[in-house]
Amino acid sequence: MQLKTSLLGYPRIGEKREWKKALEAHWTGNLSSEDLHAEMKHIRLNHLKKQQDAGIEIIPVGDFTYYDHILDATAMFGLVPERFEYDGGSVSLETYFSMARGNKDVPASEMTKWYNTNYHYIVPEIGNKAPALSENYLLAAYKEAKEELGIEGKPVIIGPYSFLKLAKHYKNDAFPELLSQLTDVYVQLFQELADEGVQWVQVDEPSLVTTIPEEDLPLILKTYETLQNEVPQLNVLLQTYFEAVSHYEKVIELPVAGIGLDFVHDQGKNLHALQTHGFPKDKVLGAGVIDGRNIWKAKLKDKLVLVKEIQKYVGDDKVWLQPSASLLHTPVTVENEPTLDETLKQALSFADEKMEELRTLQQLGIGESEANDKQLEDNEEIFAALKTKGWRKEEPDPTTSTDVGRSLSYEERRKKQLEKWPLPKLPTTTIGSFPQTRDVRRLRARLKKGELTHSEYQSAIQSHIKTWIDHQEEIGLDVLVHGEFERNDMVEYFGERLEGFAFTKNAWVQSYGSRGVKPPIIYGDVRFKEPMTVEETVYAQSLTDKPVKGMLTGPVTILNWSFERDDLPKQQVAFQIAEAIKEEVSALENAGIEMIQIDEPALREGLPLKREDWSSYLEWAVQAFRLSSSYVENTTQIHTHMCYSEFQDIIDAISALDADVISIETSRSQGDILETFEDNVYDKGIGLGVYDIHSPRVPSEEEMLHIIRRALSVLPADLFWVNPDCGLKTRNEEETVAALKKMVNAAQQARAEV
Ligand code: GLN
Ligand code: ZN
Repeated sequence: MQLKTSLLGYPRIGEKREWKKALEAHWTGNLSSEDLHAEMKHIRLNHLKKQQDAGIEIIPVGDFTYYDHILDATAMFGLVPERFEYDGGSVSLETYFSMARGNKDVPASEMTKWYNTNYHYIVPEIGNKAPALSENYLLAAYKEAKEELGIEGKPVIIGPYSFLKLAKHYKNDAFPELLSQLTDVYVQLFQELADEGVQWVQVDEPSLVTTIPEEDLPLILKTYETLQNEVPQLNVLLQTYFEAVSHYEKVIELPVAGIGLDFVHDQGKNLHALQTHGFPKDKVLGAGVIDGRNIWKAKLKDKLVLVKEIQKYVGDDKVWLQPSASLLHTPVTVENEPTLDETLKQALSFADEKMEELRTLQQLGIGESEANDKQLEDNEEIFAALKTKGWRKEEPDPTTSTDVGRSLSYEERRKKQLEKWPLPKLPTTTIGSFPQTRDVRRLRARLKKGELTHSEYQSAIQSHIKTWIDHQEEIGLDVLVHGEFERNDMVEYFGERLEGFAFTKNAWVQSYGSRGVKPPIIYGDVRFKEPMTVEETVYAQSLTDKPVKGMLTGPVTILNWSFERDDLPKQQVAFQIAEAIKEEVSALENAGIEMIQIDEPALREGLPLKREDWSSYLEWAVQAFRLSSSYVENTTQIHTHMCYSEFQDIIDAISALDADVISIETSRSQGDILETFEDNVYDKGIGLGVYDIHSPRVPSEEEMLHIIRRALSVLPADLFWVNPDCGLKTRNEEETVAALKKMVNAAQQARAEV
């Protein structure tokens, strides 16, 4: 029985981030449009060639982009918002980049998280525009691959349903009409592809794995019926990923030639649905069996069993082996990691290695390879070695719930804390970081290069701490921070000091546009080694009589911003990290630091795509936070911080964190969050961000006072704190001091009113 191999998409950034470098050179005026196009073509063809050389049989085209694939679709549909220059036809490079990044006159389009990944897409704005095909870049991509490399490519496009779900600025009741208009544009697009001889097109519909309103189902059916009726010669592979598809039975019956399913991040639900309801014999099944999002090698034996099981339900020759998602979410190649431990490296698989895995699996699956048993044994060796190294327990702990809490209720703790901390009403504080100036960053670079000794570095950091303790005293803040000058990144800093984390040199993943992240790899059991923040915090405290808040990153955020182990349930890893953070909390407390902030900006990001799965996630996320924060004296004040203001739907979980004070974003959402507190009485300390730290603008006292007053109309004054929206590391010294002075003045004025 034959098995084909296929990819859903390949990373854009290039092995050495050539893509990023070309774009940024262009933006700064150091690379002409012509040269940019040439460089982009070079990168694009190189990526196609790699897939071809790796023996991938069905190669995606059109997934490459100059910024973001959703923005490409928006441009292709002519949906350029009014504020940008555009008079129909194809969108100029300048307008395209303006939509992505804004320009001196107009703000960029909004950017938001791509489903449950750390990729961010540019949100299409519909407004009063009707979609119309402005140019067909898929056709161009298809032709290029064919002419230059003889590749019979599979154009990839976001599906009409998901595109609209990802878009904004239209009324809900306009959805059916818009979808039908957009479908007509797809008909035209598909017709042009079919006329050129394209055989397969991959239509991504990741929104089909979210909770779909019942009334959308007939609309989805109609969309795909139209496409099928109008362009019958083109084969559509309807691709889903990141979770099990909702309404499996209906989706597999849609009039398309193939369905792509994720068999890795589906909690076993897609396989179960396949076994229960079968699969149409005339359709191709794109079987996402290799993890497209994480960086571990596949356990071949298990995968082989999975493939054989899938084959039972699918027609002969109809299974395509694929990664579970586009490889956009993985780094490019393990080859570029010379400094990683060999045993660990053996166990890793980035995009290029995943292509090899598909090929191996294909050979094993069709019984072509002779070295079957040997290959499987070698593969098992790889994972066994991670244990023999002592990095992972032989037998992982059973997953138990870890419900711990503070010994006194918030109400009782509060009384003790009020006695211990003589703070004014509406106390003022900041979120943790102060400007990471070039000077600060250079210190780290020089330490790395050996140009500074450790103690020289240490004392340079201390001098920054001192400068900012002085600033804070002078500004008149009530609770001070040390400023986080020693930290490169709020996760990396802790990961580097805990057991179980590895860091790569080149394993970048696109976060948005030309920006990438290099997430740490959690490869072993996480353990506390020695205090990580005590020295700097205690030093800061020694300089002032005001309380200095200790500053830690929480377990859920550390986990959500790392590549996690795939041999343990996520929550177990979260609990291990929580145990380690708990040790740090104790170390701080023992050293006399009795206000401790544990940041959880990524808590919300980890929410599963389906509503029905939220509660189980929130349960362990909250437990992990409580595990890290509960073993303290009742007089010790635990703070937490989150960078967003969408709380309405998770307010119970936020409250269950049982932090004494939470600081959150408010100013960017124009205070909308306050409505949350009108009906949900949040009854613990709360700091509402009174100014947006993302902008260099120094806000006026009145603006801040306005936010404070509005907040005080719904929140009791004695629970209320005054602080900026987030950390100030991206701002400069002058702006920061000026803005904080105004903030303190605003707080003083407000105090007089309560
Ligand atoms: N304490 C961190 C800082 O101030 C918090 C950052 C964040 O919330 N992302 O930088
Ligand atoms: Zn923040």
